Amino acid sequence: MPPFDVPEGDPFGPHNLPYGVFSPPGSSERTVGVRLGDHVLDAGAAAHALGSPYASLLARPTLNPLLAAGRTAWSDVRRALTAWVTVPAHRETVEPLFHPLSEVTLHLPFEVADYVDFYASENHARNVGRIFRPDAADSLTPNWKHLPIGYHGRSGTVVVSGTDVVRPSGQRKAPTDAAPVFGPSVRLDIEAEVGFVVGAPSELGRPVPLGDYRDHVFGLCLLNDWSARDVQAWEYVPLGPFLGKSFTTSVSAWITPLDALDAARVAPPERTHELLPYLDDADEEPGGYDLRITVAINGHVVSEPPFSTMYWTAAQQLAHMTVNGASLRTGDLYGSGTVSGPTERERGSLLELTWNGRDPLELPDGKRTFLEDGDVVTLSAWAPGPDGVRVGLGEVSGRVVPAP
Ligand code: CA
Repeated sequence: MPPFDVPEGDPFGPHNLPYGVFSPPGSSERTVGVRLGDHVLDAGAAAHALGSPYASLLARPTLNPLLAAGRTAWSDVRRALTAWVTVPAHRETVEPLFHPLSEVTLHLPFEVADYVDFYASENHARNVGRIFRPDAADSLTPNWKHLPIGYHGRSGTVVVSGTDVVRPSGQRKAPTDAAPVFGPSVRLDIEAEVGFVVGAPSELGRPVPLGDYRDHVFGLCLLNDWSARDVQAWEYVPLGPFLGKSFTTSVSAWITPLDALDAARVAPPERTHELLPYLDDADEEPGGYDLRITVAINGHVVSEPPFSTMYWTAAQQLAHMTVNGASLRTGDLYGSGTVSGPTERERGSLLELTWNGRDPLELPDGKRTFLEDGDVVTLSAWAPGPDGVRVGLGEVSGRVVPAP
């Protein structure tokens, strides 16, 4: 009988406990839920039933109050939740407050404040360089090894997994076209990424140093940065991504707290260039995460990007994002950038997997260069957890629907 008896080794066992926001069956009320196996605990109801002071953070329609509460509160709440779902004395009280995952509605778990997207995979950046700047002496731009490149995106179009993705329309102009044309994108792509969720805000004018990363970042999720390559190619010079990216960004319904990922921390790749002091993490705790991502199109696995290969860490990205004095807000979200490993089957975008359409993928339902209407793209991932158990990340899935 679930959920106390979640099978040993379940990637969503009591060592994980990711947070989401759900509506119970037959209700439109939203409240914070914690996933255990294939069930969701009504965390606020459990807090009330057990007389916990954390009810004020958990009996809420969004994760933002918990995010804003800060690191000490995050640890205390996690410790309490672990006890609620594992200590036999709580079983009778807590067990009726679980719902089968298949019966609840999952929502975007937090109000997204600002959204930034980075470009931290050296393999991805080199592949893009080779595709778009084949004549350049170096496939990396001169700044790439000195700072984590990023841009500000559109937070209002971040959606939860399961939300349809409407094919965007826009201007495009192939080099051979005499003039730009307007219409639905014909090069709709994905970018397999990890999103980092900021909890505790920071003060305007005060940069956040590398060592304060865990005081500000609450957790992470999978993120798909849907991208219209044809729109992007025509618009991006000289100010960077705009409408080719801003139509939809999908995130998991579950935010995995950093505390669940301690066993997954790894050193990032060796630094080949000396870093300025605010980015130099040689003396910091390991800043990488060993997340094994899988990309599937219509259920068919096309790639397995390894997050451990990312050159820039989430702590460096946070430090760089605030080094000019820009402040953090609760609910800020930043994407890692497309995750691509060194081999062909580890690339995190169709742009790279098909080499800009030159080498179509052979799927069971036909060839693909870029996405077709009706395609469902699903990112999933796991990380090493304590004692050899896996930590599952909530999947992020979306179906492409035709332009209106
Ligand atoms: Ca991206």
